[in-house]
Amino acid sequence: MYVTSGHDTEIRLTLEAMVDLVNALSDARESGERADVRGLLDSHGFTKANSASAASIERVESRMNELLDKLATLATSEPQPTVQWINRELADLHITPSLTDHDGAGLHIHWTSESAAFDQQVIADVLMALGQDICDHGTGRFGTCAAATCDHLFYDATRNGSRRFCADPRCASRTHTADHRARQRST
Ligand SMILES: [Zn+2]
Ligand SMILES: [Zn+2]
Repeated sequence: MYVTSGHDTEIRLTLEAMVDLVNALSDARESGERADVRGLLDSHGFTKANSASAASIERVESRMNELLDKLATLATSEPQPTVQWINRELADLHITPSLTDHDGAGLHIHWTSESAAFDQQVIADVLMALGQDICDHGTGRFGTCAAATCDHLFYDATRNGSRRFCADPRCASRTHTADHRARQRST
């Protein structure tokens, strides 16, 4: 039987949040508009996002922007330099791990103390989840959206590694329409 532990679930949920942040911040860089960092974190189950201070949300944004180039290219990066980079980032974390099963979730690890600043919690969660996932899967679970007009990152949690598109539903539907038209033209 295949059992998904709270630990595996926590890593997946954190990396899905990371991917959404990376894509939103990349889009914001191109458009010049501001990404809704608080809303994204809240929608991904960071329960303290709503009550976090504006300064704390800004620190999440600026740290993620510092990490953005490396994170956005995870799908195509070489394992060894990625490991070295993550180790440099991990060396700067202040972590205080503990096991918890709050809110009915399976047992999983919290990396910072209850009293840690929200931004420290988010960045520790992201980097620890990324480090663990790379131990298990290399960078193989990260991919770039297959839609012609999109270069968003995705995290592939399917068991057979079949994901092709980012979370934007338009990417899959546009591409399927284009594939369909191409098939019609060729007959
Ligand atoms: Zn938790
Ligand atoms: Zn896409």
